[in-house]
Order: sequence, then C-alpha cells, then structure tokens
Amino acid sequence: MEKVRTNKLKKYFYIGKKIIKAVDGVDISINEGEICALVGESGSGKSTLGKLILRIIEPDEGGIFFNGINITSLDRGNLRAIRRKMQMIFQDPFTTFNPVYKIGTQIFEAVKFHKVVDDGVVEDYIVQLMRTVALHPDILKKYPSQLSGGQLQRCAIVRAISLQPEFLICDEIVSSLDVSVQVQIIELLKVLKDEFKLTILFITHDIGVARKIANRAFVMYSGKIVEQGVIEKIFYEPSHEYTKKLIGSVLSIKI
Ligand code: ADP
Ligand code: MG
Repeated sequence: MEKVRTNKLKKYFYIGKKIIKAVDGVDISINEGEICALVGESGSGKSTLGKLILRIIEPDEGGIFFNGINITSLDRGNLRAIRRKMQMIFQDPFTTFNPVYKIGTQIFEAVKFHKVVDDGVVEDYIVQLMRTVALHPDILKKYPSQLSGGQLQRCAIVRAISLQPEFLICDEIVSSLDVSVQVQIIELLKVLKDEFKLTILFITHDIGVARKIANRAFVMYSGKIVEQGVIEKIFYEPSHEYTKKLIGSVLSIKI
C-alpha cells in the first residue's frame, strides 16, 4: 500500500531578485513499510522536501498524500491528528532539545500534549521505550549538555517514536556522529521499523550511508529528482552524471 506520495510539489524561495528553486516539481511515492533514501549534495532541496511533506512549510504548488488522503490543504485542526503520525528527526541533536529542561521533561510533554497514553503511565511508557533504544532510563533526568551526540540522537528517536508515528523522516540524523555510532543508529532504525511498523524516508548526502539502510533511493539535484530506483542498481549502474559524482565522492573517501 502506498503510504506517502507527492504530486508535482514545488517550493521556491525569493531572496531579493534571486529565485531559489528548492523543490521544483517533485513526484515521489513511498510504500508502507519501506525505507527509502533521499540522496543529494548539500543545497539540493532534501530538507525542504521533507518539511513540505510534513507541512512544516507550505508548498507553492502540488499535492501531498498520506494514506491516500490529500493533506495539502487540510486546516490546522485536521492536520494536528495527522501530524502525530508523521514525525521528523533532524541532524543536530543539540538543537532538537531545549538545553534548559531535562530530557525526560521534554519527552513527557510531547506524549501528554498528544494524549498518546494516560498521564499517569507516561513515565513507565517512556522508560520502556528508552530500554528499546538501549538507553538507561536515568538519562531522562539529565540535561542535553550532559549527553553525547549519539545518546541525544537516541533520545530524539524515543521522542519521535513515543508519538506512535506511521511515517518517519530522518534528516541527516547520523551525519554529525562518529562512524561507529552511525552504524549503531542505522541498525537501531531497522529494528524499530519492524517493531513499530514504520515507513521511513532517510535523508542523507552520503550514498554510502543510504546503501546501509535503504532498499530504494531518490537522487535529488537542484530541486528535482534526477534518478530513482533500487539503491544497489543505482550504485552499480547510475544513469545520471550527478549520481556518478555522488558515488565517486563516497569511493574516494574510502581510498
Ligand atoms: P538540503 O537539505 O539538500 O541541503 P535545503 O532544502 O536545505 O537543501 O535547501 C535547498 C535550497 O533552498 C538551498 O539553496 C537553500 O539555501 C534554500 N533554502 C532553504 N530554506 C530556505 C529559506 N527558508 N529561505 C531561503 N532559502 C532557503
Ligand atoms: Mg538539509
């Protein structure tokens, strides 16, 4: 079943007289239970596309469909119920959380706001999820600055998962982490995908990382999807010059 689809999605930014075609007529479709990668160099429009799908920002033109429902022009009230089912995790875990409040407080608040479980069992519910991502529940009593990037990113995953989403966008979530921690987070996401029946759009500039997690990929360049398909095929038989360049940059790092 199709989980998410965009139809000729478009978002331009205007800076003075300059037009930035951040997302320029994008059609993508993601099936339920899939992990798809969105790959492209910095500035290609990946984050903008992710935010458009979740309606964190509004498109100029085009449509967004979630579970077959056109959510492009849903008003805020109707959007709120759907929002919970679509979560996004961002690159920098140190800006995901407010430095002033304890991690637990911030996670509990989101669960209470959306009334995911009864208020009396919120803490038990989150402690259980902490164990699922291999974090000690004592971390809930800490402030963001007391944790490592990897621990914070796991907390961000807990906060997203705690809302029981169906669709998760991970925007460069391993890019600021050490390689060994990257691998752990990627493996964790695969486990969570099965356990919580998630559909995931994994955004990365690194096609090598994309291969470790996704079976299908969209290659984005200058606001457009220039190539898409099974990621191993794209990796070994890229048809677009830009994709070859992306692969070349991964290979040269390894040598
Ligand atoms: P990526 O995530 O692939 O690095 P982005 O979606 O962040 O790309 O950005 C795509 C293009 O749109 C870039 O040129 C960026 O500078 C521009 N852009 C993104 N957000 C804004 C904004 N709010 N205002 C103006 N330009 C923006
Ligand atoms: Mg980005």
